[in-house]
Amino acid sequence: MEEPALRIAHLYADEMNIYGDRGNILTLVKRAEWRGIAVSVEAIGRGPAPDLSGIDLIFWGGGQDRDQELVFRDAAEHKVAAIRSAIDGGAVVLAVCGGYQLLGESYVTADGKKLPGLGLVDLHTVPGARRNIGNIVIETSGLGLTPPTLVGFENHSGKTYLGPGLQPLGRVLRGAGNNGEDGFEGVASGNVFGTYLHGSLLPKNPHLADLLLSRALRRHGFSRLELLDDTVEMSAHRSVRERVTSR
Ligand code: GLN
Repeated sequence: MEEPALRIAHLYADEMNIYGDRGNILTLVKRAEWRGIAVSVEAIGRGPAPDLSGIDLIFWGGGQDRDQELVFRDAAEHKVAAIRSAIDGGAVVLAVCGGYQLLGESYVTADGKKLPGLGLVDLHTVPGARRNIGNIVIETSGLGLTPPTLVGFENHSGKTYLGPGLQPLGRVLRGAGNNGEDGFEGVASGNVFGTYLHGSLLPKNPHLADLLLSRALRRHGFSRLELLDDTVEMSAHRSVRERVTSR
C-alpha cells in the first residue's frame, strides 16, 4: 500500500462530532486525493495518546457541554503534550466550536462548571446568556485567502475572548463570532486555527481547506498545491455569503 504523504488525526472523533464536522475531514481527504496525494485519517479517542509526531494535521470538532466534560480531563491528561509537540514540529490544527473552546485556558459550561482547557492558545470561554445560532460570514485578513470571506453556521452559548496580541481568524460581517461583542471570530495563531464555524466549514470554504493542506504539506516538500476546479464549491460559498449579508 502507498505510504500516506499526509497524515490527519481526528481527535475525539466519536465523542465530539456534531453539526457535520466530519465533512471537514472528507473535504481535506478529497482535496488531497484529487491531487494524487495519499492520505491517512487516524481517529484518536480517549486514553493514552499515540505518538503524534508524524501527524501533519489535527482536527477537533464540536461538542455539547456534556461531550466536552467527557473529554476535557482525558485531553489534559493524555493529549496535551503530544499535541504541543506535534504543533512545535509543524503540524496544523483546526478546532471547531467545542474543540476550539478546549484549546484555550478554560471553558465554563452553561451550568457554571469550570473545565480547564489545554492551554495551547491564550483564550478563555465563559457562558453567555443566550445561544448564538445562525449563519455567519467573516472576513479574514493576512492569510492570503481569495476571496477573504469564510461562511458557516454557528451554534454556541460560550463567549470566547482572545488574549492580548492574538489574531482572530476574521472579523464578523454577519453573526456573533467569538462573543458577539468585539466583532472577532476564531483565532489564527501560527498553524493553530480555532473557529465557531460549523457547516461543515471546509466544503463551502475550499480556499481555507487548501491553506490548511498547503501548510500541512509544507514539511513534505510540497511548495504549491495544484489548482482544482472549485466552481461548485465557490458558488455555494457565494450564495450563502450573498444571502446572509444582504439581510
Ligand atoms: N458547548 C459549547 C457551547 O455551547 C460548544 C457547542 C458546539 O460545539 N457547537 O458554547
